Amino acid sequence: MKSFNYISVVTLNQALEALQQEKENACLVAGATNVLPFIRYKKINNKTLINIRNLKELRYIQETDEKIFIGSLTTITDLEKSDILKKYAPALVDAARNFADPTTRNSATIGGNIANASPAADTAPPLLALDAVVVSVSKSGERKIPIDEFFTGVNMTALKPEEMIKEIEIPKNPANSHSHFIKLGLRNAMAISIVSAAAVLEIESGKIKKVRIALGSVAPTPVRGRTVEKLLMGQDFSDKVIEKASSRIHEDISPISDIRASREYRQTVASVVVKRALQKIGGIY
Ligand SMILES: Cc1cc2nc3c(=O)[nH]c(=O)nc-3n(C[C@H](O)[C@H](O)[C@H](O)COP(=O)(O)OP(=O)(O)OC[C@H]3O[C@@H](n4cnc5c(N)ncnc54)[C@H](O)[C@@H]3O)c2cc1C
Repeated sequence: MKSFNYISVVTLNQALEALQQEKENACLVAGATNVLPFIRYKKINNKTLINIRNLKELRYIQETDEKIFIGSLTTITDLEKSDILKKYAPALVDAARNFADPTTRNSATIGGNIANASPAADTAPPLLALDAVVVSVSKSGERKIPIDEFFTGVNMTALKPEEMIKEIEIPKNPANSHSHFIKLGLRNAMAISIVSAAAVLEIESGKIKKVRIALGSVAPTPVRGRTVEKLLMGQDFSDKVIEKASSRIHEDISPISDIRASREYRQTVASVVVKRALQKIGGIY
């Protein structure tokens, strides 16, 4: 195995100093569940590894009256167990429950999941549907990046080389709003998604007042289902309306064929997964 420069930090300031110094040469290591396989398969070479795993100050889930704040070092297990998220962001809890296996969930972090920017990242569709904002930080200060501007390509993000994710902000939805996430894989556990979808619905007097739909594994980045959202806005909430709108999801996605599924299969099941996510929320009302 190749040798790497290695720095371990215990404060955010130390991490930012190291990032400022190393810039493009830096590779942050949080839970290492992506980084270690990348090293093993030589996808990462000649980098300075900056271990941020011990930055306790970035591991939290907090709330104010209007928002939820999730520190970037928060693990997937923390998401799964959070009462705040169970109440205000159940789609993110669903995603955490469907993520890998318990051992991986104990190490993997939400910051690492979105920074790695896989089209199949399980926390991405819920965060998109929940209108999350990524707060990045560098020696120059903080910057807020709406999540729908964060993913710029396969394994690419809007982060600058000297920046890291500090936290993720999620606006609290009103009490008549609910969310759900569905992941379709080749098996029920330890599977990368073939298609995943998250939905947020707010219904008032039987009509759809707000809707957000987001999908994973159907485009180079996680994507919003904006065509379907537009079709649903202001409509009566009914199975017929949901079915008709969901059938148009192919207009929002651009899947590829790979070892897990063909383009055509993904296109077909995407409409089913979106429909089921919306119906599941509808069942709550
Ligand atoms: C067996 C196995 C099963 C898996 N199953 C799933 C699954 O079901 N669903 C899924 O979505 N993923 C899965 N993954 C992928 C991986 O576990 C996740 O992407 C995980 O969330 C990455 O988090 P991490 O803390 O381990 O990141 P790391 O591996 O430490 O880092 C990943 C990337 O993010 C960068 N990074 C980390 N933290 C920050 C930060 N705060 N700011 C900026 N950049 C940062 C790193 O530099 C690196 O480029 C699986 C991986 C394995 C090995």
